[in-house]
Amino acid sequence: MEVQWVLVCHGMVTLTVVLSFLCGHSPIFKGTPIGWIHYFLTFGAWDYLLRFVEFVFGSKGTDAVLSVESFCCDRPNPLLQIIYLLILGSTYFITAKSSFVYIPGYYIVKYMSFGAVIIGVLLFLLTSFCDPGTVNSKNVSQYISAYPYDEIIYSEKECPTCKIPKPARSKHCSICNRCVARFDHHCGWMNNCIGEKNTKYFMAFLLWHFLLCLYGAVAIGFILAGRVKELRIVHILTTYYGIEHSFRSLAPRVLQWLVGTYNTQILLLVFFALVSLLLAGFFGYHLNLCLTNTTTNEKFKWREYISLQKKISEAKASAAALKAGMNNIELERSSKSKWRGLWRRSEAKAETIVAKRNMYDKGNFQNISEIVFPLSSRQAFQKPYHKSE
Ligand SMILES: [Zn+2]
Ligand SMILES: [Zn+2]
Repeated sequence: MEVQWVLVCHGMVTLTVVLSFLCGHSPIFKGTPIGWIHYFLTFGAWDYLLRFVEFVFGSKGTDAVLSVESFCCDRPNPLLQIIYLLILGSTYFITAKSSFVYIPGYYIVKYMSFGAVIIGVLLFLLTSFCDPGTVNSKNVSQYISAYPYDEIIYSEKECPTCKIPKPARSKHCSICNRCVARFDHHCGWMNNCIGEKNTKYFMAFLLWHFLLCLYGAVAIGFILAGRVKELRIVHILTTYYGIEHSFRSLAPRVLQWLVGTYNTQILLLVFFALVSLLLAGFFGYHLNLCLTNTTTNEKFKWREYISLQKKISEAKASAAALKAGMNNIELERSSKSKWRGLWRRSEAKAETIVAKRNMYDKGNFQNISEIVFPLSSRQAFQKPYHKSE
């Protein structure tokens, strides 16, 4: 098989796996290969592994695997933090060793790119070790003042574990075992919750790493183009190998030469391009959340609320339609089609009344300013909270 087809197949397989992993849960992929791959990656593979371990080692083996899983996923641990640092360090080392020599002004690039990586590590450390907004008995009043209950997805209640009032928008993280204000999610890579006080560092981390990877992909692309030009590969191919001077004939040959001669740079280019795409998607998703003053946790809460309200409205509408239908039958023995029409009208009415009313959304500018300057740390909310207020 020609090398370009191997690359195309590799790209298609990678894209399918990434797409299935990220979007396969969507109802539109139900019953399709993308849905099956998603199930396999998120649940099936783990289930098969457990069954295999039980078959070979018995229940003791399963217990051992489950305790490792509990250590890795249910308790704070630095495993993914170490993996992140190893990936970052080794990628920088391989890039510097294999590609810096081809960049003009080598020392400037060396120190600037090292500085850029250090900024990335600092943002990682800030997100990982900065307090995400832990709620405790001393500060709970200012969080309650800062975030009023909307009485839709948040109402006044107590955290059964921490035994303190639960401010609106907070959530008890079962991994860290604490309540966190404006809780977004628990990030395994950071080994920390993403909450009110570190969302800004998390966003800066995503943006900075996206830019780093994009820069890496573009820079390596330019290095490879420079090598093709400097070594006069097109000239050699057309003059000595008799290849036709057209993009269609030359592109596969040039690619073949690049893969053979600069395979490390090609691998780095693909890695940077894929990671930058993933980071762009992740950053875009969180930017949209920040602009609408919603959290990942609230996205799920709203979905649950809207689904429940729709079910309630549909049930009410069905009951009303049934009652109206019964009345009609009694009054004028109405036809079957009329009865159906009434039913549908009631259903349509039910659809329109369920909507998301996010009282925390105060417009893009204010929403972003709340990310940068968290509400609870502002002077106005430093006063103690009284229930009567
Ligand atoms: Zn709690
Ligand atoms: Zn947590």
